[in-house]
Amino acid sequence: MINYTERITQVMHDVVARTPALSFIDLREVLVFARYGRTDADGAFATCHCLTLPETEPGYYFWKDRVTGQLTRRSEWFVTKTPEVRLEGTRIKYLISFVLPRFCQQRLDRSWKADLYGGAARCDSWVAKLDTIVHELYHIDPAATGIRQFAADGARSARTHGPEFYDNVAAMTREYLASRPDPELLDFLRMDFGALQTRYGGVLATTFRNFPSFPQRYMAPCETLSANEPAGIKIEPLKRLTQPALYTERDLLIRQFTGRAALRQIA
Ligand SMILES: [Zn+2]
Repeated sequence: MINYTERITQVMHDVVARTPALSFIDLREVLVFARYGRTDADGAFATCHCLTLPETEPGYYFWKDRVTGQLTRRSEWFVTKTPEVRLEGTRIKYLISFVLPRFCQQRLDRSWKADLYGGAARCDSWVAKLDTIVHELYHIDPAATGIRQFAADGARSARTHGPEFYDNVAAMTREYLASRPDPELLDFLRMDFGALQTRYGGVLATTFRNFPSFPQRYMAPCETLSANEPAGIKIEPLKRLTQPALYTERDLLIRQFTGRAALRQIA
């Protein structure tokens, strides 16, 4: 079977090596994993998740009486934190998720992105997938302060990306292709999900053990502040953490993706 996330990672290494604007990226600090998403549903093809965002200042939620405006209830004090991911001792700074099988079905000729490549007639349709891979790498911030612009993907949005973001990605993708990368490295991107299954007998991908969950920002109660609450206001407790605060290689699991689900792979 083909390990799809491994193949994407190999492409990323080649893209970073051949693209000066992305050469600062240390892919040892980037982990590619898969999420499940149907082909016939709207949604992102891929997302870049930053794991270096700092802890927030303490805060709380509150509820007010609509008539009197008086505070009626409050949540506990909390800070928002990012879980840590460490693989073989290396701290991962970015996760890049690909949505399978949806990503495999992406085509330039069905997308507004065709305009960035000189129109649908002039480009190979699978290049849409390469464009998405470059797009997610481009979200990695050279100043290491988070996500370059914003990470919400899906539809074209001037507010979240700006037209120059898409133009830069298309220019880097075209230049990468012009550098004559090994066609064998990119061959799997030419195939849609059905073709991959036929050719390889199945599609595998790295996931987190707590699939469909993955490392995400979470709220942690501030016990010292909560110990000094004034009397008379009802305090709502926060939901306690249900995901690990630290993920390691033991929290990764390779799963087989089918058109309908992600199955646990018994090695
Ligand atoms: Zn984006």
